Amino acid sequence: MKKEFAVIGLGRFGGSICRELSLEGMQVLAIDNDEDKVNEYKNIASHAVIADSTDEASLKELGIKNIDHVIVAIGDNIQASILTTVILTDLGIKKITVKAQNDYHEKILNKIGADHVVHPERDMGKRIAHNIISNNILDYLELSDDHSIVEVKAGKKMLGKTLVDLDIRANYGCNVVAIKQGKEINVSPSAEDVLSEEDVLIVIGSDKDISRFEKQLV
Ligand code: ADP
Repeated sequence: MKKEFAVIGLGRFGGSICRELSLEGMQVLAIDNDEDKVNEYKNIASHAVIADSTDEASLKELGIKNIDHVIVAIGDNIQASILTTVILTDLGIKKITVKAQNDYHEKILNKIGADHVVHPERDMGKRIAHNIISNNILDYLELSDDHSIVEVKAGKKMLGKTLVDLDIRANYGCNVVAIKQGKEINVSPSAEDVLSEEDVLIVIGSDKDISRFEKQLV
């Protein structure tokens, strides 16, 4: 059976999730308490309904209990976001993803049982900052408060060298976990492989070490 999704809050973030899921052919129930927003998504989502998600009875009436994954994308109204999340956890929803507005909001959402808390503005800001440091940094993914993974194009200082020559672990304290070449991904890179311009290194490490690696080698 196809997975069913509900998106609560159809602002820029929730709207974009709703649109993409629908484009991918998923069943999406779109919910907002603003009639104009709901009308915008009538022809996009499988169903679009006006409801206040802080009202447990309304959510029950919509059959939210049968939905596999609910995304709470209420923006500025932190109180409504928290209350909605509490109601959804109480109802036993299998998977709840919530957009956090700030770090305190994120902490509370984790405490009250959200399965996945996203912080799109902060995370995108970090990604773009790393990309600005160097055009060779393609992507940046935070693993914890102080560890990350970066995807970097083999820069001038790396070309023609092997992983042994660069000795990234000893010099920068980071590990190269994989090397991508086009669509191919080598998850056990050999110490002797010579790096070429097409290579993209996937590097894991502490933020401090990655920052040193980015400044000196990328
Ligand atoms: P973004 O920053 O992603 O654009 P917004 O704050 O603009 O987020 O959008 C949040 C959406 O959530 C709005 O469309 C708003 O009407 C909706 N919303 C806010 N509170 C509730 C609620 N209690 N129930 C349903 N929808 C809500």
